[in-house]
Amino acid sequence: MKQLEAKSMVLLHHHLKALRLPTITAECEKLARQAAADNADHLTYLLQLTELELLERERKAAERRLKAAYFPTPKSLESFDFSARPSVNKLMICELARCEYIDRRENVLFVGNPGTGKTHLAIALAMAACSKGYRVRFFRLTELVTLLVEARDERGLLGLKSRLAKLDLLVLDELGYVPASKVGAELLFDVISSAYERTSLIVTTNLPFESWTEVLGSERLTGATLDRLTHRCQIIETKGESYRLRDARAKIRKPASGERAGSAHHKEPSRGALEGGQISR
Ligand code: ADP
Ligand code: MG
Repeated sequence: MKQLEAKSMVLLHHHLKALRLPTITAECEKLARQAAADNADHLTYLLQLTELELLERERKAAERRLKAAYFPTPKSLESFDFSARPSVNKLMICELARCEYIDRRENVLFVGNPGTGKTHLAIALAMAACSKGYRVRFFRLTELVTLLVEARDERGLLGLKSRLAKLDLLVLDELGYVPASKVGAELLFDVISSAYERTSLIVTTNLPFESWTEVLGSERLTGATLDRLTHRCQIIETKGESYRLRDARAKIRKPASGERAGSAHHKEPSRGALEGGQISR
């Protein structure tokens, strides 16, 4: 293959930059040498280049989606020990990981005691959604309520709501730890009603429905919130004792070989929960 003159090369890079094709810019010369060596025709060369550009774009977009979701820590379904939580139907969770509920604008609600894997499953499902191209945002519920109240004070509420409206999936983690103020509960209700049939929600809570008034204040608001949330919703109960406690007990029982037994049991190398002293949360 004839080498392009230096001037033409500069021009080519300029055009590729103007067309925003950074991967083609970076790879075109190397691939051209390879194509020449392989006797590949022009169209094959072009196909290889455009494939590389597309792959790199998709990788970057997935990275951006993950970053924009603000997961507190990555979790996966592979690292979830379903045998330790028999009330959770593995098949159903795997089905949810296919994300068809998001296309149907349905919700998922995880209800159970602390440490029973609600947040783990919520993050794992939301990360699966991210990798399939859905726009996702994770919030601890108190964090979202604080943001909403602050945005209202600063008149930024419309902006925040329009950002939320662009999501495909909104995760509200830990409904129930702190009661919301009256304003906070109303703003939260507003978010949940706006999401109704437009954005899927995954909500985790340690509270049975009858106790939701403790967080949302009025019975009227609680009824209306539950009505929207649970209409077309998969409710998954994570029954049983805390995984953290179970894990801590296993370590106490086997102090000598505890470390090895623990790491063989869980595929996740470091679960900060124990080190963070959250057992008694
Ligand atoms: P919850 O949100 O119900 O309070 P988490 O999901 O935060 O509980 O779980 C507490 C810790 O235990 C997390 O580090 C989580 O990854 C881990 N965990 C909980 N259940 C399981 C499980 N069945 N398999 C593997 N890890 C688990
Ligand atoms: Mg949790």
